[in-house]
Amino acid sequence: MQKGALPSKNQFGFFEIRLESIGGLGANVAGKIIAEAGVVGMGFNGSNFASYGSEKKGTPVSSYIRYCDANKPIRINSPVTEPHILGVFHENLAARLPITAGVKSNSTVVINTDKSPQEAREYLRLSGGSVITVDAIKIAYEEKVRMNVVMIGAITKAMEFMDKEAMREAIKETFGKKYKNQLEANLRGFEAGYERVAIDQFDEDGRFPFIPFNETKSEWGYENAPIGGIILEAGSNVVKNNQSSRQGKIPLFHEGRCIHCGMCETTCPDYCFKFEPKEDSKTGKTLMFNIGLDYQYCKGCLRCVDVCPVEALTEELEADHEIEKMTAKL
Ligand code: SF4
Ligand code: SF4
Repeated sequence: MQKGALPSKNQFGFFEIRLESIGGLGANVAGKIIAEAGVVGMGFNGSNFASYGSEKKGTPVSSYIRYCDANKPIRINSPVTEPHILGVFHENLAARLPITAGVKSNSTVVINTDKSPQEAREYLRLSGGSVITVDAIKIAYEEKVRMNVVMIGAITKAMEFMDKEAMREAIKETFGKKYKNQLEANLRGFEAGYERVAIDQFDEDGRFPFIPFNETKSEWGYENAPIGGIILEAGSNVVKNNQSSRQGKIPLFHEGRCIHCGMCETTCPDYCFKFEPKEDSKTGKTLMFNIGLDYQYCKGCLRCVDVCPVEALTEELEADHEIEKMTAKL
């Protein structure tokens, strides 16, 4: 197997990668595969770990990969604060989390989006650096694979020092045993992610500031928490935004087919549907009519599509629809 040399290292001698994602998109597995390709395939020393919440799907996930020279020990286990490569698996994360913290002009951001690199730079408000965009959801949909292999392909493109064959071997090692039937499709998804990228480079032109990485600090601790751990402020879901939990699919409401049975409303875990009282033209009685759903609260679980008895809800690609306009009508 071909061995390589790292192109750049930080002051501690590491080349570092950070993946920002949400649970269910496979960033944790992607981190393991990328680390394995560097260690087994390229002969680096390396490490990987991930941090995530208690929910299996929908909550933010970060995965960290470090490479260094083979003879150097790794005695650091903290998050990657200034990544050479940042992989963004879900662009909506940028709306609620400082995922680009620590990205510098020598960093490369690889993002799953249908935007151009210029548009992605504006959206992410990057101070500078290289941007690689890949429509990983679309490719995953076409190849019938999870989007993490597509992102691995695009991240491999960003790692010019990485032997593509080493990454393919790491994918085979991970998916070949457990999901043998899916291996060819996964390798096709990887190749498509590697090829179907758009790349651009941006100087630090002062338009957006550099965002330093800050560790999240809890507001409450044992010294200042209210006695008994009482929660003094009532919670509310009104400001909650579940959009970043979606994985490229949405339920689409077809009002003309709806019989207003309420099955979707009782099934939806996030109370997305809006019903209004209206006079029924046949009976003259006032009944509750389904007028659609608010996509701010929809996490894309598609349970409503499963339960609808008349296909008034269908599974669609989010990119094909103007969500904001549909929600604004409600
Ligand atoms: S389950 Fe289907 S038919 Fe029933 S209210 Fe919901 S969208 Fe309408
Ligand atoms: S997909 Fe349907 S059931 Fe799931 S959160 Fe969205 S509206 Fe609710």
